[in-house]
Amino acid sequence: MNFAWARRLHPGNFRGRLTLWFGLLSLATVLCVGLYVGRIATQELADFGGQALHVSARSAADLLATNLSERDKEISLLRQSLTFSRTDLDAPELGKLLTLRQQTYDEYAWIGIADPQGKVIQATQGLLVGSKVDQRPWFQAALTGPYTGDVHEAVLLAKQLPQRTANEPLRFIDFAAPILDEKGQVRGVLGAHAHWDWVTDTVESVVTQDKAQRQIEVLIANAAGEILYPYHHMGKLQLPQRTRPDAPYEVVRWNDGDHYLTSMVEVPARTSTPLGWRVVLRQPLDVAVEPLRDLHRQLLIFGLLAALVFALITYRLATRVSQPIEQLARAMREIERRERPPVYPDERKQINEIRQLSASIQSMTGALLRHEAELETLNASLEQQVRERTEALSVANQELERLATVDSLTGLNNRRRFDARLQEAFQALRRNERGFGLLLIDIDHFKAINDRHGHQSGDEVLRRLGQLLTQSTRITDFVARYGGEEFVVLLPDAPDAREGLAVAEKIRAAVAAASFPEVGQVTASVGLSLARKDDTNAEAVVTRADQALYDAKAQGRDRVVTR
Ligand code: GH3
Ligand code: MG
Ligand code: MG
Repeated sequence: MNFAWARRLHPGNFRGRLTLWFGLLSLATVLCVGLYVGRIATQELADFGGQALHVSARSAADLLATNLSERDKEISLLRQSLTFSRTDLDAPELGKLLTLRQQTYDEYAWIGIADPQGKVIQATQGLLVGSKVDQRPWFQAALTGPYTGDVHEAVLLAKQLPQRTANEPLRFIDFAAPILDEKGQVRGVLGAHAHWDWVTDTVESVVTQDKAQRQIEVLIANAAGEILYPYHHMGKLQLPQRTRPDAPYEVVRWNDGDHYLTSMVEVPARTSTPLGWRVVLRQPLDVAVEPLRDLHRQLLIFGLLAALVFALITYRLATRVSQPIEQLARAMREIERRERPPVYPDERKQINEIRQLSASIQSMTGALLRHEAELETLNASLEQQVRERTEALSVANQELERLATVDSLTGLNNRRRFDARLQEAFQALRRNERGFGLLLIDIDHFKAINDRHGHQSGDEVLRRLGQLLTQSTRITDFVARYGGEEFVVLLPDAPDAREGLAVAEKIRAAVAAASFPEVGQVTASVGLSLARKDDTNAEAVVTRADQALYDAKAQGRDRVVTR
């Protein structure tokens, strides 16, 4: 798996951060605009739906008022024609006339005439003839004047007429009026029961288009606010309180728990008895603004797409800035680790600032690298110089050391070196109780040799004697020029007196036997001393050897004396 993408989009990165911000910003912008537009659209849509509801409600109320007033007037007309006619109210023709009228249209369930005592004397199809209706409200009201009654369930006719709507009782509204004689006395009462569904069909007919789909409900309420229609709402649904009675429509919460776009219109009072009905149209609010849901969905998708596109564009733009910076950083690391020649971002494609940055960094690193190379070269030559100087110094030191310890004329160890060796030997004596012997050798009458043969020849004698001493001693013995024409031999390997004497004699004999160029015969005197346990210092041994040498001189020279 390659997580480079995820790494680049990390919110800590310039690229990731910019992409995230721009994506969120564009989403927020689109959503804000969307919400605002959605709000306005909701209002517009609700207003549009509310106005449409109001128009329908007003039409329905008008139509209802017109139809009710027509029935009202019709009954009024009929009773007036009966008032002025001489026809007996129980005449059979009258019954036929009533039946004919009833059968012409469907709106009447029953039309009949009762005598002033409340006994039915004429009726369509003879229904209820002979029955008493004196307790019925329409009869009682019509004794004094024309009457239009509220809706009610069929009482006497319920069993005699077929049901019109399933699960609903037969319901009527009543129109009634008195029939008078010429003296103004009541001859009888004309009554008519109009089918309630005629009323409701009138109202429903106004709102037909897409009614079911738009879930628009048509309701009729009486003056007391009780629902008269539809039947299933009766006694359950209450007319909500209006907050703005003047407004053509409102969004109100009904007692069934939902919000509805609601329009209420009073049915104009055009009947003999004002009914005070109201036609109410209502539509669930979420259905009314349903088209907006699509709009919201589209806005959301559009918002997400816009956010994605913005994020992508931002990512591309941010990449143009951050990629060369990352490349520069990588190049710097490569320079730091000396991995390989650094790869700088291609300058042609870059924005000016990055190009400048890249150029500055390149020139800076170039200068730094050049300086570094110069320093390295300088360093190398310095190291070389130091090496050479150190070598020369060490050679000079060795030479100095040699000069400090070697006698230049004879090539033997000098007095200084001898003093150090003598101390070592004395320390060894102290540590190991290992003794040593010391020979002091002095050329006899050397002054005379110098005087006779010259100083050069004297030097030559000294050199030659040095060689003789070296040849006559062991490698472990220590030979040095003690000063002038005096030499010293340190015998470190614990010689006893006999051994020391042997070496001394050997030296003396070698000198005496040797022939020196230009000078001829030369002799030397030797003082021998052996280190003792009670010697407090090395000088004591030297002093004894010196005394022995003095003795040898005194005894005639060319001899060995021991002390
Ligand atoms: P003696 O037998 O008593 O030792 O007598 P001597 O002449 O050898 O002793 P003296 O001390 O009188 O003289 C030593 C001489 O050695 C004096 C000095 O000029 C000479 N001499 C000392 N060092 C050198 C040197 O390096 N080269 C030469 N050519 N002569 C030296
Ligand atoms: Mg001397
Ligand atoms: Mg001498």
